[in-house]
Amino acid sequence: MALDESWFTETVDKTGTAFSLKLGERVHAEKTPYQEIAIYRTASFGYLMTIDGCTMVSTRDNFLYHEMMSHPALHSHPDPRDVVIVGGGDCGTLREVLKHPQVRRAVQVEIDERVTRLSEQYFPELCASNGDPRATLYFGDGIAWMKQAPAASLDLVIIDSTDPVGPAEGLFGRKFYVDCLQALRPGGLLVQQSESPLLHLELIVDMHRAMRQAGFAQTRLLHFPQPIYPSGWWSASIAQKTAGGLAQRLEPAAIAALDTRYYNAQTHAAAFAVPNFVAQALAAG
Ligand code: SAM
Repeated sequence: MALDESWFTETVDKTGTAFSLKLGERVHAEKTPYQEIAIYRTASFGYLMTIDGCTMVSTRDNFLYHEMMSHPALHSHPDPRDVVIVGGGDCGTLREVLKHPQVRRAVQVEIDERVTRLSEQYFPELCASNGDPRATLYFGDGIAWMKQAPAASLDLVIIDSTDPVGPAEGLFGRKFYVDCLQALRPGGLLVQQSESPLLHLELIVDMHRAMRQAGFAQTRLLHFPQPIYPSGWWSASIAQKTAGGLAQRLEPAAIAALDTRYYNAQTHAAAFAVPNFVAQALAAG
């Protein structure tokens, strides 16, 4: 069935996949020095932000991604006080991070200020914590920021970036991971959105190898549903600065206090349950 202009469609030639949402209308479009940003009002997913034609965030399903990019890692660290988010310009991950009382400082390093300003306008619910005194919104390249980050100054690095192309490409490589490693304290963690386990397994294996080559002691994969991204099945990769098991802090009261829609102790555990074909590829990697 040919889709007419009353649909938004993201097609990915490399994976032979596409994703469509029935539209209301495109309400904004602009070209920034970094990328092309568009905002659509959709028929059933609320607002949709795209960057260079790729789906980024929708009103309806962003909770899956933002909760799973933050809470599993934060509950896998014994005392996450200082957090940096590289990318994350829609501010949804920042909002989730700031739900944790242990966090005393959260710096969001987003290269394109226009993403945040448009999110404030169309996704105000994601920006609800931007005024938290613990939050700092820094606009600049995450690669340059991490290069100058003081040694052992962070407990968690969250890389909530676009796909490994354009300004985000350097965020998926060994050199950047070396800078992240030196900025992390002992016991520190890095968590990075790592695309689809079904469509991008080779990239995931390469990322885990580069993290280990950079000096991280261990890497793990977590996965979760994310309907608007290619295949609808997404992942994040966690790299541990020091070896050993992750601190699984899953006190029911603490989890209930997060007021989440997807994340809980069961989905936390399920996210770390790695499918056979993925485990085999990572072991061979
Ligand atoms: N959830 C989305 C995904 O998985 O594709 C990512 C959301 S967030 C909007 C991605 C952000 O990464 C964008 O706002 C983009 O401007 C930012 N970004 C890309 N490269 C960057 C870099 N080198 N430094 C900082 N931010 C970067």
